[in-house]
Amino acid sequence: MAYSIEVYPTQNIWNGSGTRYGRDVRFVALHGTRSGRSGFGPEQEYSATVHWFKNPDSNASTEYVVGPGKVAVFVSQAQHNMLLHSANSGTLKGDNLLLAAAKYGHWHLGIGANDVSLSSVGIEVPQSFKGDRLDTHVYQTLVELCKDLVRLFPKIAVMEVPKPVVAVQKATGGFFEHLTVNETKSDIGPPYDLTRFLHDVNASVPTGSDDRVQLKEAFVLVDKALSKSIATQSDLWDARAKIEGLLQQ
Ligand SMILES: [Zn+2]
Repeated sequence: MAYSIEVYPTQNIWNGSGTRYGRDVRFVALHGTRSGRSGFGPEQEYSATVHWFKNPDSNASTEYVVGPGKVAVFVSQAQHNMLLHSANSGTLKGDNLLLAAAKYGHWHLGIGANDVSLSSVGIEVPQSFKGDRLDTHVYQTLVELCKDLVRLFPKIAVMEVPKPVVAVQKATGGFFEHLTVNETKSDIGPPYDLTRFLHDVNASVPTGSDDRVQLKEAFVLVDKALSKSIATQSDLWDARAKIEGLLQQ
């Protein structure tokens, strides 16, 4: 794993949702931390965010917070005790920690339990103000984390979920920004570019074969075309060429 993991207990989870009420994790929701503190570097923004999400009074809930080269995962107190026990016996693995955080639903999309919240994991990304560029090391860590989530949760497709929220509910899986499902939110937003980001995630997903990489790329292109908003004819020709190439093998 290209980053270290810090595990924190939190009360800010739906306690009854140990199986997410039967739902699989299909989506990743990306959030900007937006502390509003000028002069905060990524390290301080990360620490302040972790502190905030540990506090029961904040009512703030997320599965993951990304920092430069590290990821905070939030679990229940009981899980935390169990994980500490595992750590002492030397059996703790990074994957287990990422999975532990995703066991319970976290209300990163609002406090009312809803299908999209329960089907998604939230990632908080250090961004002190609207419009701030993401720190390069944070960005790379985010790519690595998302690569691992795609591997651990096969229903998460490396593609953008179309707007608005009703489209998200109908989608089979993918990535979206908080602003996609809540018009009062602006995170993460420009200059952040989800299309470019997913290209970077896709490029680093260990799929085991070139065929799968190419199929995934073709799939993303076709999906763009189907969303009609950003498709170009050359996207479709590229997708067609990739699929044709695979069919001829
Ligand atoms: Zn948000």
